[in-house]
This record gives sequence, structure tokens and C-alpha cells, in this order.
Amino acid sequence: MNPAQWLARAARRWPDAPALMQGETVVADYAGFAARAGAVAAALRSRHGIGPGDRVAIFASNHTRYLETLYGIWWAGAVAVPINAKLHPAEAAWIIDHAQAGLVIAGDADAVSDRVAVPVIAMHGAVYEALIDAPPLAAPHPIDADRMVWLFYTSGTTGRPKGVMILARNLVAMALSYGADVDRVDQADAAFYAAPLSHGAGLYSLMHVMCGARHVVPRSGGFDPAEILDAAPRIGPLHMFAAPTMVRRLVDAAKAAGADGRGIKTIVYGGGPMYVADIEEAVAQMGPRFVQIYGQGECPMCITVLSRDEVADRSHPRWRERLGSVGRAQSVVSVAVLGPDGHAVDPGQIGEIVVKGDAVMGGYWQNPEATAKTIVDGWLHTGDMGALDPDGYLTLHDRSKDVIISGGTNIYPREVEEALLTHPAVHEVSVVGQTDPEWGEVVVAFVVGDTVTEAALDAYCLDRIARFKRPKRYRFVTALPKNNYGKVLKTALRDML
Ligand code: AMP
Repeated sequence: MNPAQWLARAARRWPDAPALMQGETVVADYAGFAARAGAVAAALRSRHGIGPGDRVAIFASNHTRYLETLYGIWWAGAVAVPINAKLHPAEAAWIIDHAQAGLVIAGDADAVSDRVAVPVIAMHGAVYEALIDAPPLAAPHPIDADRMVWLFYTSGTTGRPKGVMILARNLVAMALSYGADVDRVDQADAAFYAAPLSHGAGLYSLMHVMCGARHVVPRSGGFDPAEILDAAPRIGPLHMFAAPTMVRRLVDAAKAAGADGRGIKTIVYGGGPMYVADIEEAVAQMGPRFVQIYGQGECPMCITVLSRDEVADRSHPRWRERLGSVGRAQSVVSVAVLGPDGHAVDPGQIGEIVVKGDAVMGGYWQNPEATAKTIVDGWLHTGDMGALDPDGYLTLHDRSKDVIISGGTNIYPREVEEALLTHPAVHEVSVVGQTDPEWGEVVVAFVVGDTVTEAALDAYCLDRIARFKRPKRYRFVTALPKNNYGKVLKTALRDML
């Protein structure tokens, strides 16, 4: 099952339908999109010696050419190695080398070409233009369901990143589960790529290709809240994936502009914790446009889902608790929570979240030890801690290394963060433990926000959480350190202490 088959099929069914858009300008219809992917495939094979199963790296920021390249690689039966454009060229070179890629297509070819031993094609240069002029390969190369198609490197906040082997059947499972559980896609929709195509947003292009919808790369090339609010009514119904920090910024912009999100059909959020106060405010400002997913590179976008109705529900007796959860298992996977003995724990008990099913990766590229540690009896060990309630709603808890142990008691940073975030002066907060001779660790809160005193925040916490959980110290900062996917780096915060 070659994912490019969906493109070939869409091109036969809707040849004249707009497919690729740069801002509000249509640059290709479906016949054109498929022809370009077929041309890239033909040129990769005949001019660059790329055969089925060979790896081709893409190191570029969002552009419609990114999509032509990605589907072209698949059309040739090859494996895409997406590299986050924000990585340092030296980090990209490490991935290119580790993946043993035969070719690189790069936004800035000069940045990497002298660091790698393989040819680098500039995505915006003459060699690329010649690629899409090649006589197209008539049909996508057939691929077995168990063949790798996407070799994704984890963000690796500690140690070297690992290459996650995503197989064709993983993408089939993800795409079908999306339609069944997350959202319905219509041909009139526009997938808006505000998040990097090198991550989940790129995979989410699949459902929109299947349904012949439009693919819009923002004029800004990335996430610009003002652009989204302005363009959505004209180019919607708009669909986008957003990390929680992006949702926060979009809602702030909508509030400032008095906008209600008209034109936006669906914002799928996930990839990091969404605070209850933030999503409540998002729904109040912009309406029922939000769906939450929980996934990881090893099981892309496909562990649990909290549906649009559940995100917007304010009538269920436990709606708030559910809003703080990541929802229930998606249709194509089973989810369980295991205790330290490897057995499933009772509802309400915290343990490690494991997942099994067709969406789970084939393993880590050339790393059988890590694969064997991570996939045990077919269950993917996510490394995330959580608890299931009797209705199957999963709540994530802090990763075990983030739990603060103060005076022998466990303190979950998320609980403290949730409390502080409801204070009007607090825009962003992250809570970590600092080593302390008396307590073992003490709670420290890093706060981004308006002017507010420590005493005021302390009093606020006293009204909301147990005394022992409240921060002993506050650090007021202008921004929190984040990785390339917008996730707060608690390790960097601990280092700052
Ligand atoms: P990545 O592999 O970079 O996509 O990161 C995956 C990790 O992000 C997961 O293992 C979780 O720790 C976290 N994550 C993903 N989705 C959510 C979510 N909806 N809520 C909280 N954390 C999430």
C-alpha cells in the first residue's frame, strides 16, 4: 500500500480540483500535483539512482514543494526522512548519515552540502525545477504494507535521536482512524500547514489527499495567528494541527481582535499537555472547533482522542475531568496502563501507558536493543505515565523524571501548573524540582506573565492546592525554553537552577 496511491486516485477522480496552495494562490490542481510527484519519482530513480526502499531526506521548511517532494519520494517507492528545518545543519547531517540517505532535498542546500557525503538538491534551485520537468513515472511503485515509508527522528531531549520506522500500514491505520474518530474530511476543506510538515502535520496531509481537499502552505511559511484569523474566512473550512502553545497564542490573538475563529473548521491539538484553563478559554472564544489527540512519533497521532463534542461539553457531571484527559483509545489501537510488575493496574491507578495495534511503528532504525526495550509482546511502551478511568478516559501524568519528590512526597508539576495558570497574570508556567538539602527537592515555578508578586501567587496557590505542593520559589522569565516542536524543556529549566 503506497501512500502515493491515494494521490494517484485523487488525481483521477478530481483532476481539476485545486490541490496545492501557497497562501491564497493555487499552484497546482490534483492532476498537476500527481504529475509533479510522478516526475520527482522518475527523476529520483533515473537521475539520482534512488530505488525502492532507499532513503531520501527532506530538510526544509513548509512549502508546496515539500508536499510534491514527499509524495514524489513515496511514488518512487522510497522512504522519506523528514528533518525539522529548525535543527542545526550539524544535527541534520547526523540524521542524514545515520539514515544512510542517498539524497537530500534541502531548503538551504549550502548549509548542509559540505557536511554530508551525498548529493544535496536545493528545493528552490534549477536542479529541483528540472526534477519536476521529468516525464512522470506513470504509477506509484507498489509497496507492501510492512515496508517502511517514513523514517522520523525523535526530538531526543536527552541523548541522540532515534529513527522511528513508520510502515505503510501504520499510515493506513492512522488515516482511517482519523476519519473514524477524529474528524470527517470533506473535499471543500483546506488543510492549513501552520505546524512543520516534517512532523505530524505532514502525515495529516494524507487524509486530505484521500478526500481531494486543498493543501495550503501559509504565506508566512509557518504559524502566524493574525494570518490565520484573517485568511480563514476566505480559504476555509480550514483544518490545522496545532501544539498547545500555538492554540494559546491563537486564542490570545482572537481575543485581542474580537475574532471568533470563523472559517476554521477544526483545530486538532496535541503533542504536549493542554491545560484545562487554556482549552476552556479557547472553546469560549472560538467555539467547538477543537479536537485533542495524543500520539507520539512511535505511534503517530494515533493513541487516544478527545472528540470535538467532548472538548466542548459543559453538561456531563465530569466534563472538567474529561477535558483534562487525553480522551479514549482511537479505534485502531488498544491502550493499557501497566504497573511496575508489567501487569495492568486498576482504573485510577497510575502506571506506564502502553499501546498496541496497526499504528505502532516497526521499530527503531538499526537499533534492535532500543526496539526490544520499547516494544514488548507487541505493546509499545510510551514512557508516559497515566491512569485510565472506568469509562476508558486516559489522563496523562508527568513523566516519571519530572515528578518532584519533596520531603518524601510526590508532587506532580502539572497539578501546580494547572492551578497557577488560572491566575489572570500568568500566561505560561512550568514547574520543576530544585535539589534542596532539607527537603530533597523543592518546587520552583518559572512564570511568564504580567507583573505579579510572589506573595500574591503564594496566596493564590494556598486557596487551591495543598500547602506542600505550592512553589517555594518563583522565577519570572520572559519566555520558557522550548525545543523545536514547541515543547517546554524542563531539563533546561533544571539546569538554570
Ligand atoms: P513526539 O514523539 O515528539 O510527538 O512526542 C510525543 C510525546 O508528547 C508523548 O509521548 C507525550 O509525552 C506528549 N504528548 C503527545 N500528545 C499529548 C497530549 N495530547 N497531551 C499531553 N502530552 C502529549
